[in-house]
Amino acid sequence: MNRIAHLLEGTDMPQPTGPFSDTEALQLLMAYRKDPSDVPCPTCGPEMIEVLAFIEPEIDPDGFASVTDPEGDYAAALYCHHCERAIGILAGAGYGG
Ligand SMILES: [Zn+2]
Repeated sequence: MNRIAHLLEGTDMPQPTGPFSDTEALQLLMAYRKDPSDVPCPTCGPEMIEVLAFIEPEIDPDGFASVTDPEGDYAAALYCHHCERAIGILAGAGYGG
């Protein structure tokens, strides 16, 4: 604990801890499907997640995702303002619905 606190000293901003884990991704997906307007961060809790954009579920080989409408098959790009992690979840009706 003290070691971690020491490492964080001198950093102005909270550092991203890496991508969401598979478990967290599933929690985000379940929460999104339950209520897209109320998706808590598995780590940080409610009211931290912002839906940045709706994107095509297929990301092209260059790593770019096209913005789309939240209809049919789409993915939602979520961002947590607290832990500064982003993730795209497959939110469209075509996935397990
Ligand atoms: Zn978070």
